[in-house]
Amino acid sequence: MRKPIQVEEAIDRVLEKSYEGEIEYVSIENSFHRVLGQDITATTDVPGFDRSPYDGYAVWAASTEAASASNPVVLEVVGTQGADSVWKESLKPFQAVKIMTGAAIPEGANAVIMKELTQEFRKDGKTYVQIKRKVEAGENISRIGEDMKKGSLLIEKGTVITPGISAVLATFGYHYVPVMKSPKVVVIATGSELLEVYKPLEKGKIHNSNTYMLQAQIFRAHGEPILYGIVKDTFQNVFQAVTKAMQMADIIITTGGVSVGDFDYIPKVYEHLQAQVLFNKIGMRPGSVTSAAVVGNKILFGLSGNPSACYVGFELFVRPYIRAMLGQKNCYLKRARAILTKDFLKPNPFTRFVRAKLSYHDGKLVADPIGRDKSNIVSSLIHTNSLIVLPGGSRGFQAGSEVNVLLIEDEEGASSWL
Ligand code: AMP
Ligand code: MG
Repeated sequence: MRKPIQVEEAIDRVLEKSYEGEIEYVSIENSFHRVLGQDITATTDVPGFDRSPYDGYAVWAASTEAASASNPVVLEVVGTQGADSVWKESLKPFQAVKIMTGAAIPEGANAVIMKELTQEFRKDGKTYVQIKRKVEAGENISRIGEDMKKGSLLIEKGTVITPGISAVLATFGYHYVPVMKSPKVVVIATGSELLEVYKPLEKGKIHNSNTYMLQAQIFRAHGEPILYGIVKDTFQNVFQAVTKAMQMADIIITTGGVSVGDFDYIPKVYEHLQAQVLFNKIGMRPGSVTSAAVVGNKILFGLSGNPSACYVGFELFVRPYIRAMLGQKNCYLKRARAILTKDFLKPNPFTRFVRAKLSYHDGKLVADPIGRDKSNIVSSLIHTNSLIVLPGGSRGFQAGSEVNVLLIEDEEGASSWL
């Protein structure tokens, strides 16, 4: 007899067995979309010196005190400050230094006037600039450290590297970036009815689709998939495959064979491995037979063969474990509140996870259930970007009511269940 436990309890049992993986260094070119292995702290002030945010003229502000449209002030341009021309002297009153965006403010200057507000001219071999507006001391100067202060914590470990983060890493000269090693996840598809994807269909057989679905889910979760392939439904085959897979990865996923049918060997495999079974029945649909067990520091997930149940089982239980291995603090799925678009009036003792397409309608988040009455269909997964959670034991749910939705395309996660 299997005793069902609640989903949250099942996730917590999985997380309790989790441990953080190791870090490695990859070149910044190869770091996009990897998970940061360390907190990133500003190692210098940015900008590292006071600099000009515009092309224009660096001046001593008091020189422009009397400037107006009818009474322009004329300053002598005594030098140029650009990327590769450095003006080494000190600016005196009624002098200006032509300055380029990003260049250091020269000594003696305390403001910049934008080029657009000036007019440069030459007279008697000298260069002058005419200024029609007064500038205040400190105007148009990007101060040292105003962007990032040396020593401040900028990005937490466990964060997925985005283009903006790549910019910050490069700003601090990270040629090599500390990232978490991608947890290796091996996928075994069990089922004598399964055909390799490249074989022509035969009567009574189906292509193995779960392997490729899971491979993509593992990629999405920042794991490293290893495809074991198909294993026929005999105890020897399944046992041998799982034993081999345990040498290949820390996380072992099987699909199929986890139920109580005559050819469902996963429970027996766990028994022979003397695995500690974390659960083998969950109060949920689809995938109530989803199982997990541990042997030493290896975790085995027995997902249903049913594609939708397999999909849901991965997101609910495997993903949090991968997140924990990646050193992420928020291991649970992120959730949102959304408006249900269809009735679910049938009472259900189990919590239902309904594949859904979440989108905005008139500024409101709306969850559209897909293929809700057919838990075994693959086509419903095409548009799935979220899972509606319908708690068990209620009297049903009406269209228009607000429900919890799990965001499976999210990278941030959440620190707790619903
Ligand atoms: P099982 O969990 O082994 O009882 O399988 C449940 C259902 O999912 C059956 O209809 C199987 O044919 C189907 N199924 C099992 N494994 C796969 C797979 N790898 N790809 C697609 N469908 C599968
Ligand atoms: Mg099967």
